[in-house]
Amino acid sequence: MFLNLTDAFTKEGHTSSTQVTYESDVFSDGLISYEILSKDPIDLKISNLSEGRAHITGRIHMTFQMTCSRCLTEVPYELTTEIDRDVTGPEILTEEEAEDQSFVSEYQLNVEDLINNEIIMSLPMKVLCKPDCKGLCKVCGQNLNLGECGCDTFVPDPRMVAIKDIFNARKEV
Ligand SMILES: [Zn+2]
Ligand SMILES: [Zn+2]
Repeated sequence: MFLNLTDAFTKEGHTSSTQVTYESDVFSDGLISYEILSKDPIDLKISNLSEGRAHITGRIHMTFQMTCSRCLTEVPYELTTEIDRDVTGPEILTEEEAEDQSFVSEYQLNVEDLINNEIIMSLPMKVLCKPDCKGLCKVCGQNLNLGECGCDTFVPDPRMVAIKDIFNARKEV
């Protein structure tokens, strides 16, 4: 979806409000795709700041299907974040600003790109199903939140192993 920003850039005091919906049911950060379980429509408010500059606000509220980084069970993650961006029109746009607002081309706002940008900045890299998630057994892969598996997961301290070797070497003499 595209919104025309001509009025917002050129008309002093101009404001507009448009309800938009994130079109896709999947969000991809370039590496991982997340299913979108729910999404609220977003009220995008665009207002003129000064000649060639506009301000965009709106609230993103979406729930993503994520995966617990310890036990790999699926966890719904509810994201609420505010869009709060200044954008600049093509007449006075600097190269630096152009990089920051890749979702604006000339007078066109790419709504999907704007929202993607905000999600990428706000979505955590890792989530846990609960703060004290016990994770998976390193031996058999059992989800330890569901109970102990009884595997021997004792990992000897490498320094202790070295001492043991010294003892064993003496014994052999
Ligand atoms: Zn977990
Ligand atoms: Zn186990």
